Amino acid sequence: MLTVTDRPVTEGAAATGEVSPEALLRRCVHCGFCLATCPTYRLLGEENDSPRGRLDLMAQFLDGGPSGPEALRHLDRCLECRACETTCPSGVAYHRVLAQVRPRLAVRHPRPLHRRLLRCLLGRLLPWPERTAALLDLAGHFAFLLPGGLRRRLPPRRLLPRRPPPAAPDLLVLGGCIQSVTHPQTNRDLATLLAAGGWSLEELEHPACCGALNAHLDQRPLAEDHMKAWIRTWEQRSRAVGRPLGILAVASGCALHLREYGDYFATDPAWGARARAFAAAVRDPAELVTPDQVRGLARHSPWRRLVFHVPCTLAHGLGTGERVRALLEAAGFTLLPDPDPWRCCGAAGAWSLLHPRLARRLLEARLARLPLAEADAIVTANLGCQLQLASGTDLPVVHWVELLGAAQVRGAAQGTSAGRRSR
Ligand code: SF4
Ligand code: SF4
Repeated sequence: MLTVTDRPVTEGAAATGEVSPEALLRRCVHCGFCLATCPTYRLLGEENDSPRGRLDLMAQFLDGGPSGPEALRHLDRCLECRACETTCPSGVAYHRVLAQVRPRLAVRHPRPLHRRLLRCLLGRLLPWPERTAALLDLAGHFAFLLPGGLRRRLPPRRLLPRRPPPAAPDLLVLGGCIQSVTHPQTNRDLATLLAAGGWSLEELEHPACCGALNAHLDQRPLAEDHMKAWIRTWEQRSRAVGRPLGILAVASGCALHLREYGDYFATDPAWGARARAFAAAVRDPAELVTPDQVRGLARHSPWRRLVFHVPCTLAHGLGTGERVRALLEAAGFTLLPDPDPWRCCGAAGAWSLLHPRLARRLLEARLARLPLAEADAIVTANLGCQLQLASGTDLPVVHWVELLGAAQVRGAAQGTSAGRRSR
């Protein structure tokens, strides 16, 4: 029997424990190395839209110095991509400072009313699949009224009949709040891929959301509701099968958030230990699929030449980008050279809806340097990137799980029909 403890925890998994923002800020030596990789600094060229500038703004606020709505505007423009953390030689945990300071700044200097309303609306709609589905249906009916750019960004709604769960699964997979409405097939493809390695997977319909959307919108109580629901469900399901189940999410943004539950509840006596146990059970799908399992699958795919867009959450959070690359290469795909392999596409969860013009410019900058003319498709690992990239190109944009899972199904079907023909 396979258990999740048979597999290694990804290197770079988040350390738990909450450190004061003042202590974290003291690590910054103002060298400015992070500026070169910050998407908003590269785009806007403003010190206050760079990691160093934002850290200074937060330090000023904590010191009781001048701060105001303008400072919050610069912090809100941050994509939380963590490229700065990968570049920083001093190990400044920028996202931890931001997560602790920005909500306090927003209480002192509330955002303009229209911004608060939009954030409130997004935080109360998107994490619930039934609400997102209703919203997409409504938008579909009135698409002719929408501006062209927005119309193009609307993903189609897809429905799949649910399948009965296995009696004793090894792993639970997040259904996904938006994913379950727009890309329900990806979890099916994941089940197919993992079954080849002997893993059985149960998809959870509820809770659907990992809490990341609300957390990034500084809506902590809502985020905690989703997170506690997940911890409770995992504990109950693990008790029912008599061993700790592994936890998966195919969207790398969700997987990273699940893996950091321990940080969110670090100082909570009731939930801290439970959240840490939960986080330790989270795996990235790329840790469970092996190159041998997928070898040669590219011959069953309609596409061969791919651009691999590595999501920020994979590159700077989970650290599994190279594993995905190795799987794609083992499958026989040709990965075209990417001159900016870590460049953000401007999705960043709800960020692209809050900052549509900046998101569009980041997307155009990302696409402009990719060898799209030679590619058959773009492959990535995060739903947000998938939707964002698809809004700017006519090429198919697929999740690597979808690509390999579909190739495996096609390969099996071809093998079966070839077998029938030869009989
Ligand atoms: S998280 Fe990304 S956008 Fe935010 S400061 Fe760091 S590099 Fe810039
Ligand atoms: S965050 Fe790191 S890379 Fe950026 S200025 Fe500070 S020490 Fe230098």
